[in-house]
Amino acid sequence: MFDAILIDKTEAGQTVRLTSMDTAQLPAGDVLVEVAWSTLNYKDALAMTGASPVVRSFPMVPGVDLSGLVLESDNPAFNPDDRVVLNGWGVGEKHWGGLAGRARLDGNWLVPLPEGITLRQAMAIGTAGYTAMLCVMALEKHGVTPESGEVVVTGAAGGVGSVAVALLAKLGYDVAAVTGRLDETDYLTGLGARTIVDRAELSQPGRPLAKERWAGGIDVAGGVVLANVLAATRYRGTVAACGLAGGMDLPTTVAPFILRGVTLAGVDSVMCAKPDRIAAWQRLAKDLDFDKLDAMATELPLADVIARAPDFLQGKVRGRVIVPINPALR
Ligand code: NDP
Repeated sequence: MFDAILIDKTEAGQTVRLTSMDTAQLPAGDVLVEVAWSTLNYKDALAMTGASPVVRSFPMVPGVDLSGLVLESDNPAFNPDDRVVLNGWGVGEKHWGGLAGRARLDGNWLVPLPEGITLRQAMAIGTAGYTAMLCVMALEKHGVTPESGEVVVTGAAGGVGSVAVALLAKLGYDVAAVTGRLDETDYLTGLGARTIVDRAELSQPGRPLAKERWAGGIDVAGGVVLANVLAATRYRGTVAACGLAGGMDLPTTVAPFILRGVTLAGVDSVMCAKPDRIAAWQRLAKDLDFDKLDAMATELPLADVIARAPDFLQGKVRGRVIVPINPALR
């Protein structure tokens, strides 16, 4: 038996509880994983609170991320005791996820964890950090280099934002961190941000084009914030957009695109192709400062996960929240 979080839906509405289950209850899959660590992401909070229809079938074990050891495998790519990491692929939405002692999965979803990243660090990175890496890679692909000029990160004190700031700073970029929490200034400068921008400066509808300010950006907010970032992006700059923490809409005009040649690069981590995932995890092993990663990670016991979820929706979570499941695993 092992502990798991279970979301269910009855006529009375959605319920979520900590429960106990056994391996026989797990869905089909060719690899059984003993989960070492999981995490809480924004999407897990949406799933558990029911604030957005993230869960596509019930009952559902949430958790879009897990790291752990292979226990049993019918997949030729994996053997018992292999260290693996899983992000996305609809896990925690359509297929039972990581907030449980064990998970049975499609082996094609698993990425071998690179040497140099522990099972705990893998979840301190999690989907948020791996998405931040995909965003950095999108900027690089479009020619934004440390020499291009200052780059901006929105939602900087959150999960994606924190890792994005740390990665860009280590790579030598001059990083401006946008936050709604100016009391997190020391935290953000500790991660490597050189400039702190009050989110309020970008929260009101602005002009189609503003003064050219940033060579590129990573945006988790969407909405008016992204519109203002695009308007202030320099000629031929690129903004990687991955989130909707500030809204699903995008009240912009074509002006940044047709007058300044700005690129808006969409980033999706969930269905991202396996070679890109492997590349992102290898880059994380090389380009992330693990002391900074430690500074952004807070441990949360599985028993407290349900109560903490609403904090994400109120933007109250700093950095990354990691959940020890079987933390003794190495
Ligand atoms: P967090 O909750 O950790 O961080 C979100 C941050 O956004 C907050 O900490 C806050 O940062 C900022 N924020 C909150 N409310 C607003 C607002 N109204 N306007 C602007 N900014 C706001 O979430 P994650 O970092 O895990 O995820 C961020 C976003 O990215 C989410 O929308 C998530 O769904 C999305 N995402 C997308 C992925 C993909 O594959 N495309 C993968 C992972 C995440 P601060 O206080 O510093 O301003």
